[in-house]
Amino acid sequence: MKDILTAPWLTELVRTCTNMYAHGWDERNGGNISLRIDGEEAEKYVDPGAVLRRIPTGFRAEALDGMYFLVTGTGKFFKNVQYDPAANLGLLRLTDGGETAELLWGYTDGGKFTSELPAHMMSHAVRLAIDPAHRVVLHCHPNNLLAMTYVHDLDEKAFTRTLWQMETECVMVFPEGVNVLPWMLCGTNEIGEATAEKMLTARLVVWSQHGIYGAGKDLDETFGLIETAEKAAEIYMKIAHLSLKSTITDEQMHLLEKRFGIKARDGYLD
Ligand SMILES: [Zn+2]
Repeated sequence: MKDILTAPWLTELVRTCTNMYAHGWDERNGGNISLRIDGEEAEKYVDPGAVLRRIPTGFRAEALDGMYFLVTGTGKFFKNVQYDPAANLGLLRLTDGGETAELLWGYTDGGKFTSELPAHMMSHAVRLAIDPAHRVVLHCHPNNLLAMTYVHDLDEKAFTRTLWQMETECVMVFPEGVNVLPWMLCGTNEIGEATAEKMLTARLVVWSQHGIYGAGKDLDETFGLIETAEKAAEIYMKIAHLSLKSTITDEQMHLLEKRFGIKARDGYLD
């Protein structure tokens, strides 16, 4: 059995936590990450028969039965993950149709998975059905996206169009746009279900007055999605109170579509 602290996927997740904290997106215990690991890969590092604890999840997710996930712990600070991965992270295998998480490694101080596990796992189920290569769900509290939900219309098309107009890259990085949920109570199955439903049509879901969810094939791609949307929101927050003299027009976005072979969400461009 290999040492799990040398697993490239664990190292990458630890680095992502550190990086997100450094960006100011994960104050205190803000933010959470879940990364799907292939069973074969996980079993190089943990004995699949050596279950440390069986923890009820409080929801069903049949599609994820038997799958392994590396998940940040509840109440844990991203800034500390690098110093003690084993206390701050856990490697889980879902069983009983998703109702039980079998802990195979981690949460060494008796802790458990993030309280946002429903939103993570329900989103994984939806994104996996769309893209079998999907692996990552990432949640954080980026300053400018959060600020934008106080001053911008929360209509998804309007919100998306504003972000697209703030930086040329945006329509190429997230051509499907950004979906938006109104303020909802976090940590519940209800917000989990609502987030997963929004994940049917976009990899980015804003939680108004709270933060954002991103989904993707790997940590780099998912981090980059949020990074790009957050940068656009930062530009918006710098200019929203000034008189606009110029913007990226729909005609120009159509040129980007043609040049880079992407397709903006239907009906979002004139
Ligand atoms: Zn949060």
